[in-house]
Amino acid sequence: MTSDADELGPLRVAIIGAGPAGSALAILLARHGGDVTLYDDGRRPDLLVGESLVPAVVPLLKTLGVEEETASFGCVKPGVSFVWSPTDRISVTFNRFAPAVFPYAYNVPRPRFDDALLARAIASGVRHVAARARLQPNLADEARGELALAPETLAAASALGGRPPHLIVDATGRARHVARVLAIPARLGPRKDVAHFAHFEGFRWDDAPGQVLIARREAGWSWCIPLQERLSIGIVLGQDDAARLGRTPEDRLERAIAGDRWLSSIAGDARRVTDVATYANYQLISERGHGRGWVMMGDAFGFIDPMLSPGVFLALRSAELLADVLKPWRGRRAIPSPTELDSALASYANRQRAELSAWFDLVAYLYDGRLAALIQAGRAWMPQHPGFLKRAMQQHIARHVGLLASGAATTSRYSRGLLRFLSRHGLRGVDPAALAIR
Ligand SMILES: Cc1cc2nc3c(=O)[nH]c(=O)nc-3n(C[C@H](O)[C@H](O)[C@H](O)COP(=O)(O)OP(=O)(O)OC[C@H]3O[C@@H](n4cnc5c(N)ncnc54)[C@H](O)[C@@H]3O)c2cc1C
Repeated sequence: MTSDADELGPLRVAIIGAGPAGSALAILLARHGGDVTLYDDGRRPDLLVGESLVPAVVPLLKTLGVEEETASFGCVKPGVSFVWSPTDRISVTFNRFAPAVFPYAYNVPRPRFDDALLARAIASGVRHVAARARLQPNLADEARGELALAPETLAAASALGGRPPHLIVDATGRARHVARVLAIPARLGPRKDVAHFAHFEGFRWDDAPGQVLIARREAGWSWCIPLQERLSIGIVLGQDDAARLGRTPEDRLERAIAGDRWLSSIAGDARRVTDVATYANYQLISERGHGRGWVMMGDAFGFIDPMLSPGVFLALRSAELLADVLKPWRGRRAIPSPTELDSALASYANRQRAELSAWFDLVAYLYDGRLAALIQAGRAWMPQHPGFLKRAMQQHIARHVGLLASGAATTSRYSRGLLRFLSRHGLRGVDPAALAIR
């Protein structure tokens, strides 16, 4: 610890970005007396991706004190159905795996969700600076930290009184501000898709209320996410396949629906009530997640893939993990030495990287068809000599897949090992390539 009067605590933290990651961390630190400045210009587009949440988000919402509010504008999500073809689907309801898996999740209009978290952060004592922040390499005092707030960014937070923060947190999402300033490379995933989506009214819905539908398409896949009164419909596909569908995002989404008998049975008569939003949908994990005086969280650290909807969970989980390693200093009149802070951040970054890598691996099973092949093999196996042992085995396997895909235990060595083993030795002749998502 340092005894310099200027260096008395509490730890001053500047968080850049008030998406789920940044606001959640701000709440967790400020609640215990942390000195937190949160930069975000608060300008959100009408449509934001991240509408379907996994069950493991709900306990985090409870911890953050926003579950009740989320329920007021969200839609309870009882499960997910994967539609491989109009005649082949698997439907999962989360309560089947309770209590290991939280029995439900939510679908949310994201701008509203983000506003609720930001409002809770402000109510917890966080200073919100309604401005975009700019970071720069800290050439003046590298021993203190590799990065500094740009002068106008420091000045915009009058409560900082010109004193730089001890810790800068990059929660800028896919803008990845720190990675850009420090030229940090990333490990890239195999897919470089584009997504187009919009909200619809007047759709036809034969599934359980709130059930999310993920459907394999000739190229890529589509989502149907029920919200209150509306249905979010999105398509995710390779850039070339998207270009073949049409020139504009509107054309592409419209043709994707019209040309797909299953999707048009849901949305053929529906009315689009928003613009069509477009996202480039890459997969990456940053090669460095922290450095002297800075740390990344949420999408700024790594972005996996929308297929299993882990993004908001990973954002909130990174906040939980980071708040946990900062626990010894939040709110106390003592701050860590640079070495202590570095070691705390390293331990957080290792855990978050392990979470990201586990989801990276899991999503690959869906795209390359191994998970669908395993399910088909299991279905063919059951009717031959059904019995207690077989049923118990199948339930055991389903439970572990549920634990992985719900976020309840995505890093579990046993569950991951079981899936790896089965996808090598349990496919019983079913060819995963035939079930892969192009
Ligand atoms: C096509 C697609 C579909 C998806 N679907 C889902 C889904 O169904 N479920 C799910 O859980 N996830 C989904 N995701 C992922 C999810 O959207 C993200 O993982 C999640 O939003 C990450 O939260 P975050 O807080 O890290 O970043 P963000 O939500 O991106 O928040 C970053 C914030 O930082 C602000 N910011 C950026 N730069 C600055 C700056 N310089 N100064 C101040 N503020 C700044 C931004 O304005 C924003 O408010 C999807 C992603 C894609 C691409």
